[in-house]
Amino acid sequence: MTGRVWPEVYKKLGIAPIINAQSWVTALGGSIMRPEVLQAMDDAASSFVDVKKLNLAAGEIVARSCGAERGLVTAGCSAAQVLMVAACMTGQSEQNVEQLPDTTGMKNEVILFKGQRNRYDKAFVTAGATLVEYGSADYATTDDLEKAINENTACIAYVVAPWVPQGIGLEETIRVAHEHGVPVIIDAAAEVPPRSNLSKFHKMGADMVAFSGGKGIGGPQSSGVLAGKSDLMEAVVMNSLNLDSSVAGIGRPMKVSKENIIGLVTALQLFTDSDEGAEWDGWQSKAEFVSERLTGITGLRVEIEDDPAERQGPQPVLYFDDEFSGPSVDEIKAQLEAGDPGIFVGEGGGSRQEINIVMVNVQDGEEKIIADRLNEILRS
Ligand SMILES: *Cc1c(COP(=O)(O)O)cnc(C)c1O
Repeated sequence: MTGRVWPEVYKKLGIAPIINAQSWVTALGGSIMRPEVLQAMDDAASSFVDVKKLNLAAGEIVARSCGAERGLVTAGCSAAQVLMVAACMTGQSEQNVEQLPDTTGMKNEVILFKGQRNRYDKAFVTAGATLVEYGSADYATTDDLEKAINENTACIAYVVAPWVPQGIGLEETIRVAHEHGVPVIIDAAAEVPPRSNLSKFHKMGADMVAFSGGKGIGGPQSSGVLAGKSDLMEAVVMNSLNLDSSVAGIGRPMKVSKENIIGLVTALQLFTDSDEGAEWDGWQSKAEFVSERLTGITGLRVEIEDDPAERQGPQPVLYFDDEFSGPSVDEIKAQLEAGDPGIFVGEGGGSRQEINIVMVNVQDGEEKIIADRLNEILRS
């Protein structure tokens, strides 16, 4: 174990803490909130407030941080995806908001490049929409997109994430969409840091952009950041914060607690003021530490990679060739996970035989435990 203790609240349930070298994945707990965030949530928990007014005020901070017209704290990026599509379908019609997920009489098609289909895209149809794919798994043309647009198109969805192909690109997607008067909505859940990405896609002209609050931003695990153009964001608010209406909107199961609203805006402000360079250097030195400890193993090549199109921060990537006589990638992972503490690492996309050790959630000192454990397993 590291110097960190086994929190009593987990111990009571028999759940052991683990080392997360797999990034901001939901299944391992997202991220660790800073003490200032926890304190703010604690403060928020002690009094009642008008939650709608609170979230509208928090939305102004979100909008400013994103360089967008209007913002809102959501219950995660997935919740924001549901709300973005709902808003594109209902517009500011009270009747439409009440009618969802029945989309009769509304534009209800969400267009997505086939290559960007991913495990999170069900959120794009949860509000009652239909997904319309264009292009093939790895290729698309402007013409393919134009052919997919018709009078039922509610919006074009776009996903920015490592490993997800960009098709005709965001700039071209926005150009074509706006030429047809169709909004572009973006799932950029894990694309921050760098914090410049908070505003990047808005500057490019995207209509609404969603990020996870509980990944790189370091807010509550079940929070999200949504921002965009005022008219569409007003429709988002109607679909999510219709708290005094007789019919709760499609966003009702995705409510955000007062503690999470405060936690998110606190984390967001810390994130936009943080020293990104120092954080990056910390990941880099952990990556170098592990990499240096793994030299001289026949058949193993270790590279520190940091291409933002594929990687979340600098990380050692382990490649194995035929000379390697140790356990398979699956066996290595199983042994890491079964240890005490369990260590969870990333693996390669598709058929690539690799192990990647993502440092963004590796706490100080844990890199030593990771290096020791890998040495035991790889040199056995
Ligand atoms: C994590 C993730 C989501 C879901 O975000 P939550 O904040 O957990 O709801 C959606 N899309 C992508 C690409 C993600 O990585």
